[in-house]
Amino acid sequence: MSEQQPESIGRAWLDVVATARRSAADGLVVGTSGNVSARVGDLVLVTPSGVPYDRLGLRDAVGVDLEGRQVLGDLGPTSELPLHLAVYRSTGAAAVVHTHAVHATAVSTLVTEVPLVHYAAAILGGPVRTAAYARYGTPELAEAMLGALADRTGCLLANHGTVTYGDTLDQAYERTAQLEWLCRLWLTASSVPGRTPTLLDAAQLDEVTEALKGYGQPG
Ligand SMILES: [Zn+2]
Repeated sequence: MSEQQPESIGRAWLDVVATARRSAADGLVVGTSGNVSARVGDLVLVTPSGVPYDRLGLRDAVGVDLEGRQVLGDLGPTSELPLHLAVYRSTGAAAVVHTHAVHATAVSTLVTEVPLVHYAAAILGGPVRTAAYARYGTPELAEAMLGALADRTGCLLANHGTVTYGDTLDQAYERTAQLEWLCRLWLTASSVPGRTPTLLDAAQLDEVTEALKGYGQPG
């Protein structure tokens, strides 16, 4: 990127790249299959299509406006751009993380809502829904995702992966990690032959949501 770009954009871009690399290092994505974005004013910085994250540097920044028009960089934005833009247009999000995390994607093929096996669901705003399948990169998928995200900060995409958002890249990333963990937990508990996991009810989750407002992170 050119020297004329404000420093804050450069910093935000490096944070986007660092978060994308972290998702690969933590095993939430394989290769270049996920994508990460951050909003700086009316600019959305987003990982490019098909470039390994370890090759991305300061000069590779890709930025689009909220209509998806490219306003920064030479590399093309991710094909999942419609998902990211739909979140920014509909919420106050400052960051979006999309992955194909294996346990979460497995659960997306099994249920329309992640069973309440743990109160960590409160971190995502309640029981996490699965958006109906539509091909990647389509407005249909973005629309299904928005429905599943109502009053939530994350959802599953059927036979595809996860989407979470937050006020910061760290928060959006943490929500993805918690969602993947939650799905792994349910798969583990529900795979015990002859047994069915006990679930929390809505009132028990509401109680945790209230407690979170006062005490920050759950214990
Ligand atoms: Zn995807």
